[in-house]
Amino acid sequence: MKNRLLFLGPPGAGKGTQAQQLASVRGLLHLSTGDLLRAEVAAGTELGRQAEAVMARGELVSDALVLAIVRDRLEAQAASGGGGWLLDGFPRNLAQAEALGQLLEELEQPIELVVLMELHDAVLIQRLLNRGRTDDNEQVIRHRLDVYRQQTAPLIQYYRERGLLQPVEADGTVEEIAARIGTAIDGTA
Ligand code: ADP
Repeated sequence: MKNRLLFLGPPGAGKGTQAQQLASVRGLLHLSTGDLLRAEVAAGTELGRQAEAVMARGELVSDALVLAIVRDRLEAQAASGGGGWLLDGFPRNLAQAEALGQLLEELEQPIELVVLMELHDAVLIQRLLNRGRTDDNEQVIRHRLDVYRQQTAPLIQYYRERGLLQPVEADGTVEEIAARIGTAIDGTA
């Protein structure tokens, strides 16, 4: 069974919901950089102070900062016996993907599958507006979608070239999408 997974897709595609559910069912570490950054902001740490304004604008927090968080968690997980993990919201640009590749090579834990959650912009924007997080006003949402297209979408080709990409249609109920993701993961050798 594959247990080193990465979820890719635009904001609002439902990565967080699906990732949390799948990680809990399969006993994987759910590593959401968005959640980890929001926790730093809430705790008022130095890192949180640096990230807060950037997140409110819908820009990407610096690669070094995000990478430090991820490295810390993945090293701890590897040291504790190397259970699986599910990365959600990371990597978000090519530099992060390259750095992640290098880290995973060091840990001898390559990614086994990248699930790409696909959804139309109109649905994404409506979902995000309904969610109502502080960075979920229409202007910031549109900017986050631009950032996704410019910086994150190139990762689709990057992982496709490496034979890791599995697209999943992310429209439907939470249960329907979860079933499609399960098939995408287990139905591939
Ligand atoms: P969404 O998927 O709705 O965009 P996230 O929780 O994944 O929400 O991310 C929220 C914000 O946190 C992003 O807009 C960005 O500012 C910051 N962030 C999250 N992950 C990363 C990352 N890997 N690199 C840089 N910034 C990140």
